[in-house]
Amino acid sequence: MPMADRTNLLDFTLPALTAWFAAQGEKPFRAKQVFRWIHQRGVGDFDAMTDLAKSLRDKLKATAGVRGPAILSEHISADGTVKWLFDVGIGNGIETVFIPEVDRGTLCVSSQVGCALDCKFCSTGRQGFNRDLTTAEILGQVWVANQRLRTAEGVRPVTNVVMMGMGEPLNNFVPVTDAMEVMLDDHAYGLSRRRVTLSTSGVVPMIRKLAQRLPVALAVSLHAPNDAIRDRIVPINRTYPIAELLAACRDYLEVAPRDFITFEYVLLEGVNDAPMHAQELARLLATTPAKVNLIPFNPFPDSGFVRSSGERVKRFQSILIEAGYVATIRRTRGDDIDAACGQLAGQVVNRMKQRVVKIIEAA
Ligand code: SAH
Ligand code: SF4
Repeated sequence: MPMADRTNLLDFTLPALTAWFAAQGEKPFRAKQVFRWIHQRGVGDFDAMTDLAKSLRDKLKATAGVRGPAILSEHISADGTVKWLFDVGIGNGIETVFIPEVDRGTLCVSSQVGCALDCKFCSTGRQGFNRDLTTAEILGQVWVANQRLRTAEGVRPVTNVVMMGMGEPLNNFVPVTDAMEVMLDDHAYGLSRRRVTLSTSGVVPMIRKLAQRLPVALAVSLHAPNDAIRDRIVPINRTYPIAELLAACRDYLEVAPRDFITFEYVLLEGVNDAPMHAQELARLLATTPAKVNLIPFNPFPDSGFVRSSGERVKRFQSILIEAGYVATIRRTRGDDIDAACGQLAGQVVNRMKQRVVKIIEAA
């Protein structure tokens, strides 16, 4: 069977892999063994899975494969940050970033090729949307990163995952939650729910669905202290305004692995960064257990926005701290390789715009 037609085992949660094995007439514990080889040891070659019978290895070789996305490029920054561009089909590339710190290694994972939500300050949004990633492509980012960076002792370097790369993870719900299920599975990566963070621009019904399916740590891209500003820079706010969003956040905390929601707030000069906005934000979040993460804007060509000065960011932070919040300023990492998590560009063949062009041509 040609490689591309074989079942990619990176597409499966453990229950799904067990069902697939059952369909091949194999016992459930064999699925668990293979799952561990793939995810715990990073092995994709069935011949290296030495505790499997040769007949099973041969069968797997004939019908299945373990295929992470192909690496188009790999850049290592002076501060140890690594950025990969992965091939996800004709003309399309997604980015993944590894950020090493003293006590952990965080992988920033993409969920879609581009994004349809069009937040005005976001370079992914600017590129438009092509398609959703599959479970294998999402999980494959973790699998490949661990494989590339694995230590000689076999220690996996990725200890934390943030779904903050390209795309809106809640708009690709099933593959994203399946991939996160594997990240949490003790037979795979065994990450705790606190160590996997999903960042959303505020798809309210899906936040509620996530609470039921797989409550991981939640980060919400708020970016504004009121609907008037948020409507302009985060268009999904016109569908799910702030009051509905915060209500969903409070409900999420009933099941969340943390006792607060992280609110992300990109500071844009002259748009949302005045002391008055910080005060308004402090009032807005008064009834929602919150931590605020202030993000210096990462400029990109023709964005139309300017990064707020360091002084202004600090002033904003101190107003929140005085009001009793934990407010941090995100450090920019991997600056020399353009690897800031949350503003990944990749390569996107924009299907939305193509469709518009086609409609115009047809008219
Ligand atoms: N779609 C999801 C997750 C990906 S973006 C979301 O919006 O939450 C991850 C974070 O980076 C979000 O908070 C996003 O608003 C922020 N971000 C986007 N563009 C940015 C830029 N140019 N500079 C700084 N942060 C940006
Ligand atoms: Fe999409 Fe998030 Fe960018 Fe908004 S900030 S366009 S939701 S990736």
